[in-house]
Amino acid sequence: MTDLILFWHRRDLRLSDNVALFAARQRSAKVIGVFCFDPSLLQGRGVAPARVTYMVESLRKLQAEYAKAGSQLLFLYDNPSHGIPHLASALQAQQVFWNQDVEPYATKRDRTIADALQTLGIEVYTQWDQLLHSPGTIQTQNGAPYTVYTPFWKNWIQQPKAEPLDAVTGLMRLTEAEQERAIAAGTIPLPTAKDLGFIWDHDLFLAPGTAAATAKLADFCQDQGAIWEYEEQRNIPAVIGTSTLSAALKFGTIGIRTVWAEASRTLERSRGDESRSSIETWQKELAWREFYQHALYFFPELANGPYRTLFKQFPWLNDEEQFQQWCQGQTGYPIVDAAMRQLNQTGWMHNRCRMIVASFLTKDLIIDWSWGEQYFMQTLIDGDLAANNGGWQWSASSGMDPKPLRIFNPASQAKKFDPEANYIRQWVPELSGLKTKALVMGMISETERNHCNYPNPIVEHKTQQQQFKTFYKQGKENQ
Ligand SMILES: Cc1cc2nc3c(=O)[nH]c(=O)nc-3n(C[C@H](O)[C@H](O)[C@H](O)COP(=O)(O)OP(=O)(O)OC[C@H]3O[C@@H](n4cnc5c(N)ncnc54)[C@H](O)[C@@H]3O)c2cc1C
Repeated sequence: MTDLILFWHRRDLRLSDNVALFAARQRSAKVIGVFCFDPSLLQGRGVAPARVTYMVESLRKLQAEYAKAGSQLLFLYDNPSHGIPHLASALQAQQVFWNQDVEPYATKRDRTIADALQTLGIEVYTQWDQLLHSPGTIQTQNGAPYTVYTPFWKNWIQQPKAEPLDAVTGLMRLTEAEQERAIAAGTIPLPTAKDLGFIWDHDLFLAPGTAAATAKLADFCQDQGAIWEYEEQRNIPAVIGTSTLSAALKFGTIGIRTVWAEASRTLERSRGDESRSSIETWQKELAWREFYQHALYFFPELANGPYRTLFKQFPWLNDEEQFQQWCQGQTGYPIVDAAMRQLNQTGWMHNRCRMIVASFLTKDLIIDWSWGEQYFMQTLIDGDLAANNGGWQWSASSGMDPKPLRIFNPASQAKKFDPEANYIRQWVPELSGLKTKALVMGMISETERNHCNYPNPIVEHKTQQQQFKTFYKQGKENQ
């Protein structure tokens, strides 16, 4: 009889270039997919309607791909520690396969589930899939994990990268009797995001599923694609100069080896130093993604607070009203408000603007970075613990980054990266009739603000950054 393998999908919502799934198919044709909606994650405080919608709609595409390949994708709404062993046992699965994750919750959960399955006599097989280099394979000369990006990158880029894997095909379905046992074990039809309690009324920033992610990658790397001018354009929020693949990389609707192979082919096609440097700059972003995932894996305490001890007792001002004004894009600083409104209306924010608003929250409003980290998780389509925590700790100066203090001036940032105020006009339309210089520098008179129904600045940048520096200095002295 053919072995029945249960394949547990988590952040690898695809059939192609999937390491553990490919291995499962090599063992047996009867590979049945399962996705478990975990109530403790869905009912947590950091869930974004846009992200849940992207995930559910990507699962819908995956379900269709399974059907096309001859098998099926099952769904559970349960604590996976109960649901996965229970279903595997009901189906008399010989093996359960999955790809590993770096997040502290996932690593602990997976250990518990592996133990439970082994107690039931069901074999467990796991692999690394979401990274080009798994944790532990990129280390310092002393065999320690890196805490600084640049040496990590220098080592990471030299290591050979695996080729993409073919999509699995020729699968077998459950028999009718097995199907009934699956239902008895709690499988459900695929819910909508609304069924799960999340409503996202806007278009999805990235269309769900593998086909859309693959098309987006091809578009980014085509002859006229944005990758060629990435170095210049990636900092200009008014243009789409980046890949916009972050949600696909978060949920694994595209394989990282596929992404790397496409970037490498593009690099081979490049003729000049400028375009070569642009592609390498993009590759460095993929390495940032891996750096933060390795960091979270080896330093899981990052998820719970600042890395630098100075920030453990930092006297944040934490003004609730100002926090709400920041969330709603009503700070009176046009570039900050434009960015927050882009986030609220699309579920995505340009990277340059993520840095600007994070600096503003922590250094101008002097609000604990973890408030901003959580708000991002509640809104971002690509919200990802490792990248988000890494980005926030970098911006707050509380993380592993060796540069001690980084303070962004909103006006200088706008002058450099939105000099024509195109981005500001797009997202703060009530100001669109004002002069470019006024928008960029934020020098808008009270009369004009009243006329446009736009708030006065809620704080003064210069005063606040002085205040932050004083707190920082005191913190250092007390160490
Ligand atoms: C405060 C803050 C919070 C952030 N939160 C997240 C988050 O929750 N999820 C997330 O994916 N990224 C996060 N980032 C990183 C970055 O802003 C996004 O990855 C990027 O804007 C996504 O757009 P893109 O896909 O067009 O990126 P591209 O510029 O095309 O980059 C390609 C891919 O590389 C990865 N990447 C790029 N920059 C970074 C980075 N600095 N750190 C880690 N990975 C990176 C992403 O997977 C991205 O899709 C955050 C950055 C900051 C400063």
